[in-house]
Amino acid sequence: MAELLQLTSELKGIGFTSQRTRNRMVDRLTEAGISNQRVLEGLRQLPRHLFVDEALSHRAYEDTALPIGLGQTLSQPYIVARMTELLLEVEPAKALEIGTGSGFQCALLACLLPEVHSIERLEPLLEKARQRLKELGIKNARVIHGDGQMGLIKSAPFDGILVTAAPKEIPYELTEQLKEGGRLILPLGDKTQTLCVLDKKDGLLVRKDIEPVRFVPLLPGAC
Ligand code: SAH
Repeated sequence: MAELLQLTSELKGIGFTSQRTRNRMVDRLTEAGISNQRVLEGLRQLPRHLFVDEALSHRAYEDTALPIGLGQTLSQPYIVARMTELLLEVEPAKALEIGTGSGFQCALLACLLPEVHSIERLEPLLEKARQRLKELGIKNARVIHGDGQMGLIKSAPFDGILVTAAPKEIPYELTEQLKEGGRLILPLGDKTQTLCVLDKKDGLLVRKDIEPVRFVPLLPGAC
């Protein structure tokens, strides 16, 4: 597949992580059931090691969640892949992510769709994520500081909304900002969480539960 990002070899991390390490990660994701080739290619090309602290970058291509500071985590590649694959099924032109975190999921979405907006409540994480996206030359993603529970009314409606922190209940505003035919994907629950897909059909939400997951909680307010 064509290059999704025009990166210098320094940014690609060539010499730092071998192509073989990334191919192995993609093979593992395929074995785990990820089948969307665009998602797999995106994950093969995106330098995940640039989204975590240098001390952890040697673990960036393992299928594991990694800490990104302030008690938050970058999800394991399998979950990022699964959520992205579910989102792509509705062929979204415009998507909203809640919980920018490191910016990795946002960068992957930006490689695969025309327009991405992402909201983060913790300003220090947001600033780092913004810097990374800039460094990678990603221009079709916008990151915003705020409370993602409220969505992003100015840019609504969205074809797809991906929530990467777990609310106890489905945030009403997000369902309102979803286009007819659109899809909301979110981890739902508290101690036990389920990855849910909600499709808007004839103004109603049709829910499908995918699998058990573990995310940090979606918290109110921005700081
Ligand atoms: N998608 C991220 C990982 C997300 S971790 C990545 O690719 O790295 C979950 C993130 O959601 C955390 O950064 C947390 O601060 C953020 N978050 C939690 N509640 C939020 C809210 N109400 N609005 C916006 N972001 C929120």
